Amino acid sequence: MKILVAEDEPGSRRLVKMVLSAAGYEVVEAVDGQEAWEIFQREPFQLIVTDWMMPRLDGAGLIQNIRAIQKSYTYIIMLTAIDGKPKVVMGLEAGADEYLTKPFNRQELLARIASGKRILRLEEQLTEARQQVEVLAMHDGLTGLLNRRAIEEHAGAEFKMVARKERPMSVIMLDVDHFKNVNDQFGHAIGDQVLRQVAKVLQENSRGYDRVGRWGGEEFLLILPDTELRDAALVAERLRTQTAGTKIPLESGESISVQISLGVACTVNGFPSLAKLIEAADQSLYKAKQTGRNRVCIHESEP
Ligand code: GH3
Ligand code: MG
Ligand code: MG
Ligand code: MG
Repeated sequence: MKILVAEDEPGSRRLVKMVLSAAGYEVVEAVDGQEAWEIFQREPFQLIVTDWMMPRLDGAGLIQNIRAIQKSYTYIIMLTAIDGKPKVVMGLEAGADEYLTKPFNRQELLARIASGKRILRLEEQLTEARQQVEVLAMHDGLTGLLNRRAIEEHAGAEFKMVARKERPMSVIMLDVDHFKNVNDQFGHAIGDQVLRQVAKVLQENSRGYDRVGRWGGEEFLLILPDTELRDAALVAERLRTQTAGTKIPLESGESISVQISLGVACTVNGFPSLAKLIEAADQSLYKAKQTGRNRVCIHESEP
């Protein structure tokens, strides 16, 4: 692990370096707070040992600068000749995590660093857990696609963006045909497997900047930025044929396949809101169902 040591007094700096190096740490030296600050901006450190009194930028100033920009936590030990309780309080108030007076005790410095490492580890675990919660909150548990809230949020942002850039955006709403029959005939677990497979086909057949979400049950919504109605219709048609052509193997050795109906709408027809655009795609989907299923219908008219 790397530790940044900021100390203007050469003898003192050498001593800190020696103690830390002997304990297996890699030490980067800075001759004052300013140099430490410049090093930190190029390459963040998780652990810093800093003197207080230094020319150009003192320890308190260095800590203040670091606290203002740190992305993950930096554990900072203030090491200084300034003694006395009020000074300790001042050091901690400046944002230091620990405060040791010089001459320092080697064992104590190493123990403080070990406790800093424990705190850093906890902080990392917390960040990881928070990220996992964020991912869970945005994704559908069954298919791994964006959930309804997330795809709606994404669509809202795209809708505004394309309006500003005067570019088109299309949406595709699709629904699995006679899906109830799959559940009834093969059971809910197979039904789930089919939904995962459909999701996979949708994901694999959409482009990098398109987004696929599970709208609910066996309904899915695709957002296609920068896409005209005709091109979206081609994408929809490809999704339809790919889905119909995908065989889902069953344990019995048989396999099943499902078909989907799709409705397409595009902003070029002047929809005043995302809700109206999605509603239009939904109406087209309904038409596809009405006229025989396993087909694409597009919303060509004004809203
Ligand atoms: P249509 O062609 O008109 O869409 O007919 P359908 O049978 O697909 O439509 P319906 O809305 O009657 O049935 C949808 C079914 O989807 C009913 C519901 O139990 C099932 N379903 C919804 N969510 C899930 C799920 O997460 N897993 C499984 N296995 N089934 C689901
Ligand atoms: Mg000094
Ligand atoms: Mg259905
Ligand atoms: Mg449905």
